[in-house]
Amino acid sequence: MSKPRVVISACLNGFAYRYDGSTVRDKEAEALKPKFELITVCPEVSVGLGIPRKTIRLVRIKEKIEVIQNETGLNLTRKLQDFSDIFLSKLEEIDGFILKAKSPSCGVKSAKVFGDVEGKIILGKEDGIFARTVKQKFPYLPIIDERRLKNPELRWEFLAKVFLHYRFRKARKEIGSLIEFHTRAKYLFMSISQMGLKTLGKILAGHKKGAFQQTVNQYQHDFQTILARPIRKSNLVNAFSHIFGYVSPRLGQKERNHFLKLLNEYQAKKIDFVIIIELLRSFSYRFNLPYLLNQYLLFPED
Ligand code: SF4
Repeated sequence: MSKPRVVISACLNGFAYRYDGSTVRDKEAEALKPKFELITVCPEVSVGLGIPRKTIRLVRIKEKIEVIQNETGLNLTRKLQDFSDIFLSKLEEIDGFILKAKSPSCGVKSAKVFGDVEGKIILGKEDGIFARTVKQKFPYLPIIDERRLKNPELRWEFLAKVFLHYRFRKARKEIGSLIEFHTRAKYLFMSISQMGLKTLGKILAGHKKGAFQQTVNQYQHDFQTILARPIRKSNLVNAFSHIFGYVSPRLGQKERNHFLKLLNEYQAKKIDFVIIIELLRSFSYRFNLPYLLNQYLLFPED
């Protein structure tokens, strides 16, 4: 069975490719790996820097951020940029990226930028050169590092979006499967953008027989715009409330009150969102509600 295709930094995937010849053992990344078809990449080894190797860093020179090897002063920007461009342009059918934090190549907003080659002046944190190129070429795809994977909500959002993109790739072949995809993604879209959900619905409603390519192109454009946005708590609560509205006529008053109390507590950051999701999943099972059992918001991997 096929799986979502995710690019992963080699050192997070068991390869001892770090500058000091080590690898990274990360519990959360390990747990996610079996869910994906992984494409491993190490920009630094790929441009021939060797293992172990002299360290490199991001240095701001005039207005540009360059990649400089500290000891030798060698400027590796062109080499790493060319590799990133070529590697990413050859990628087909990809659904997300798991990259190593803090690296001047792979770091996602976490690579230190220095004001000098010696590394005495820290100016801030930026994307590594490979991560920056990923964002330029695939601005709509989910991207995360192993540090953000430790946050359960960010981990869940990453997983949900990777699977959403994967499902869309499978569904964009004919109008029937695209409509089914849209129906199943309704509450997940709502948790990102209510307006975006409406726009996508209108594109499908306006579909004309024989013009599928036009419909799917429009849909893909707006879908990618939505996917690039973060899930906001207020939108997630709105989506949870709509799902609850679907089941609440089947619940007793005390159970309804209990759910609403928990939803308020989630809004007030007193409890984890997992509690709400699990409750809504339980309702879907208990009342055997196919409409909810098929929603990607509640069951992103099914
Ligand atoms: S962080 Fe990126 S460049 Fe560094 S070892 Fe890992 S995969 Fe290679």
